[in-house]
Amino acid sequence: MTAEARVRTRFAPSPNGALHLGHAYAAMRAHDFARERGGEFLLRIEDIDGVRSRPELVEGIFADLRWLGLDWDGDVLFQSSRLAAYDAALERLKARGLVYPCFCTRSQIAAAGAQPGPDGLVYPGTCRLLDEAERGRRMRNEPHAWRLDMARAIAETGALVWHDLEAGDQPARPELFGDVVLARKDAPASYHLAVTLDDAHQQISHVVRGRDLFAASHVHRLLQALLGLPVPLYLHHDLLAGADGRKLAKSEGAAALAALREAGEDGAALLDNLRKNHLPSGISRVHASYSLP
Ligand code: GLU
Repeated sequence: MTAEARVRTRFAPSPNGALHLGHAYAAMRAHDFARERGGEFLLRIEDIDGVRSRPELVEGIFADLRWLGLDWDGDVLFQSSRLAAYDAALERLKARGLVYPCFCTRSQIAAAGAQPGPDGLVYPGTCRLLDEAERGRRMRNEPHAWRLDMARAIAETGALVWHDLEAGDQPARPELFGDVVLARKDAPASYHLAVTLDDAHQQISHVVRGRDLFAASHVHRLLQALLGLPVPLYLHHDLLAGADGRKLAKSEGAAALAALREAGEDGAALLDNLRKNHLPSGISRVHASYSLP
């Protein structure tokens, strides 16, 4: 196997809450996928959400992973160190007329009758229609995001396909998302832009992540085509759910790994139980569907 053909996966937590069992499972899936193939497992900290990101949680993430026995290769990549790369990509898209500034607030978007899409409301295109004079004037005075002009982008790339190792070939359906945000008012890059650029930068061969991000891969495939990036293979694994049947989530107060670690539990044993599907009581694996709305 050549160096280029090496398997490389990553775990990419956002430090906006303590890691929980769902993260342990996701990190294990990406780690084991690489290790079983003699490959590398990388760690990326997605810390550019200025509102929700909490730097003090990063050390806890490292401690949790070590406690679980999950070792990563090379240096940790912090998204906050990659702002120039995100900006350069956005500038390239600006120069090609593929993005436009958007001044709308969430409530304006909802009031404009936006319909739900795979990832929140589909933007109704209000700011796409502004003329250049108004755009220039408002850009000087108002905070703005940058949105992808989806119809133009698709006209450039034509039909695209990506591949999930379990779900098979997926004709890309980025149009379902509408004009997605690539740079936010309050963050230098959106999740979609940063993750796509970083997976290429870290030469990730297999994006192994939870099925909650399955739909997002349609947008990532489009961005890869627009920016001339390599196309990784994907594996969107099942998720862990709590007693209520819903995916474990930081926001729902899923038990933090740090609490178990500090209580003296054996992290490697816990991870091995997850591997063998011996789940703690009240926890189950859910095979969320791949279907799009
Ligand atoms: N940072 C994302 C999260 O914590 C994961 C990104 C990804 O795996 O693509 O949900």
